[in-house]
Amino acid sequence: MSTNPTPGRPADLPTRIRHWIGGELTDSADGRTFPVSDPVSNAPYATAAAGTTDDVDRAVTAARAAFPAWSKLGNRERARVLYRIADGVEAREERLAAFETFDSGLPITQARGQARRAAENFRYFADVIVAIGEEAFRAGDQQINYVVRTPVGVAGLITPWNTPFMLESWKLAPALASGCTLVLKPAEWTPLSASLWPEILDEAGVPSGVVNIVHGIGEEAGQALVDHPGVPLISFTGSTDTGRHIVRSSAAHLKTTSMELGGKSPVVLFADADLDAALDSVVFGVFSLNGERCTAGSRVLVERPIYEEFTRRLAERAERVKVGLPSDPATEVGALVHAEHYARVLDYVEIGQQEAKLVAGGGRPAHLPEGNYLQPTVFADVPRDARIFQEEIFGPVVAVAPFDDETEAVELANATEYGLAAYVWTSDLKRGHRVAHAVESGMVWINSHNVRDLRTPFGGVKSSGLGREGGAHSIDFYTESKIVHVMLDQPHTPRFGA
Ligand code: NAD
Repeated sequence: MSTNPTPGRPADLPTRIRHWIGGELTDSADGRTFPVSDPVSNAPYATAAAGTTDDVDRAVTAARAAFPAWSKLGNRERARVLYRIADGVEAREERLAAFETFDSGLPITQARGQARRAAENFRYFADVIVAIGEEAFRAGDQQINYVVRTPVGVAGLITPWNTPFMLESWKLAPALASGCTLVLKPAEWTPLSASLWPEILDEAGVPSGVVNIVHGIGEEAGQALVDHPGVPLISFTGSTDTGRHIVRSSAAHLKTTSMELGGKSPVVLFADADLDAALDSVVFGVFSLNGERCTAGSRVLVERPIYEEFTRRLAERAERVKVGLPSDPATEVGALVHAEHYARVLDYVEIGQQEAKLVAGGGRPAHLPEGNYLQPTVFADVPRDARIFQEEIFGPVVAVAPFDDETEAVELANATEYGLAAYVWTSDLKRGHRVAHAVESGMVWINSHNVRDLRTPFGGVKSSGLGREGGAHSIDFYTESKIVHVMLDQPHTPRFGA
């Protein structure tokens, strides 16, 4: 395995990725592993432990044992630990980014940004948990009612392969801040960066068993976590199909679930918009992170008078996007995560050629004969019933279509099963707000791509998800609210049987 030839291979790459349970690195109880490959050579470079029901059970037992002490710590104490985790993440930014880039194919410059965001997630939720209060409701002089928030217990966290480390931090930070202990099941295509959590968390003083990591295949390790009666809550980010399946499985134990699922987010571009700014934003919004981004603006709806010109400029830019080795700082689009995913995206490119007009990309760049590379691809004149208009492709592929007026723009924006994000470009602010309100999505940006404010609710409607995380919403999710009613006067009680 050490003969893996991929350029940019980090020097200290582990060849064996193990679970972390109760503070110990461990193999699966039955010794099984699965191969992990990189997206440039598609050759295995490591094996990872393949978790089973037994391993998940050991992890849940460790998390349950650690729960009483961790949940009883003061918020300030836990916040201190979270700050140290953030420091540990930042101190490893280069190594983390190198691991992430090698394993997932994300361009190195973008992987560095993800490492910084991961650190910020810990700092942010440390601040939230210290600042947040609990509600009280006074009913005149009669009654005072107050809310007590308690951590739900052992949280089950299941994450996808796009921006793996950052998305893990997005769940770890609020779960830990809230006082939960947890079991994390990272995505099987990208387990490498998660192998850095044990040293980061140990160094930060997270007690053994508070965080447990079980690697493995979704249908085995993930499913075991979903089915475990000792895990009352599942936070899931991944595909809509898997999300539906998890909600069904969770019903057996009536678990609390949060579902961050797929998207096919529209960009609605009116003729009065700042077109240069919109072009930069559209290109970045759909091709950054290799297009493997849940909030990608993957359907661009353009008002008729500027349709021809904008589509031509978008195609020209897509042709010029630098596709290359993920570890090269000049690379703008790297290699798609896995050969299987690459094949799926190529299938969509083929389907698109039957359904619409290919105006840029559509294949492997000539200078990259191997690896999961695709030149950013633009389809124009895409009809609303086309599969490439309706289905999430999760790669550097964008569908463009014209509209004639605001009503049609909103109709087209809402014409898919998804509702995660939407982007509106116009200089008419009244119209911007109107369209933002009319679009069926959990999040809208006016005159911007996805620039996150961590305090705001994150999530989708329709097939894009259930529930909201972010800011106080995350704390709500990882805690139970109990209302305590206190009578301040004599209650007025009907005197039955008096
Ligand atoms: P996926 O659904 O295949 O896998 C996600 C995770 O679920 C993995 O860890 C996998 O092992 C696990 N899993 C699979 N089957 C399972 C089962 N039966 N029980 C429990 N766990 C199981 O998704 P993916 O291909 O890894 O990720 C891409 C998808 O994630 C895209 O649809 C994308 O839009 C979505 N996504 C959404 C957001 C968001 O915030 N809305 C963010 C990132 C990615």
